[in-house]
Amino acid sequence: MSRPGCLALTLLAANLAWGAFERPGEYERLRALGNLHEESAVLRRLLTPDDDFFPISTPGPNDWLALHKEPGQTFEEYRNAPVNIPDKERHAICLMPIGEFDGERSPALEELREYAAAFFQMEVRLLPAYHPHDLEFEPRKNPRSGQRQILTGSVIRFLESRLPPDAFCLLGVTMEDLYPDPKWNFVFGQASLNDRVGVCSFARDDPAFWRDPRPQAYRELILRRNVKTLAHETGHMFTLLHCIFFECVMNGSNHLVESDARPQHLCPVCLRKLHHAVGFDAVKRYEDLARFYRRHQWHEESDWVKRQLDRAAPAGLQGNPP
Ligand SMILES: [Zn+2]
Ligand SMILES: [Zn+2]
Repeated sequence: MSRPGCLALTLLAANLAWGAFERPGEYERLRALGNLHEESAVLRRLLTPDDDFFPISTPGPNDWLALHKEPGQTFEEYRNAPVNIPDKERHAICLMPIGEFDGERSPALEELREYAAAFFQMEVRLLPAYHPHDLEFEPRKNPRSGQRQILTGSVIRFLESRLPPDAFCLLGVTMEDLYPDPKWNFVFGQASLNDRVGVCSFARDDPAFWRDPRPQAYRELILRRNVKTLAHETGHMFTLLHCIFFECVMNGSNHLVESDARPQHLCPVCLRKLHHAVGFDAVKRYEDLARFYRRHQWHEESDWVKRQLDRAAPAGLQGNPP
């Protein structure tokens, strides 16, 4: 099964006709979360929606949910579906850089690895970079902008042949812009879930791609966008579908403004799914993410995680978790 990740702005007009997205109410959000009583007390506290988790907002006319009919995926649906989850044999997230990662607009690959390791609480391995020749992966010039793009399906077929035996998944990361089909404008990423490979592009994360001026701290802006895309696309590899319940890093995204408005974190529904798949210590996960955010002085994200950690161990329970 090949499933587009986050798709392009220029969609066929037929997609516009499905009717307005109806925001799930509190009942639907709690139903999506499922019965938390089977979880540990600490996890129950972390999964209970608090003021730091916002219900999903009404989409604007060009936003993902205005253009795509998505039913959402509850925790129970996730748990009962044939989902892709790591096991003893397939336990590593592998990242393969495809093409050049130059210093000016590209993330440091080690930063991507560290973020993914904190976010997914799994071994994350950087594979040697692959340098395709100019005509590989069915390149084209975007019909509107004239900018070079490569075809996701072609990259995915290549990655299938490079999947390491111990890989839970292999994600190609590239600074090349992507297109999934000649009719499409662009795509941020695409994954083949059955084959556990995917590709995502960071090309559009640089303001210079849009011919916008780079702000002073543009490297941090780019990295913030990069790791958000990486978390989202890798989340799909765990068979997490797009989230329609809360503001969440697993929300579909149709354009960069929409993607920028998404939070860096998983909502309680998606966090519970990922926890089911990986079985991590949710407190350690937040501590690892907090370290990454502090190191990069991402104060908003760092403060957000600190508030979650505070409620994981409320006063009187520190040092004595149930
Ligand atoms: Zn997606
Ligand atoms: Zn979510």
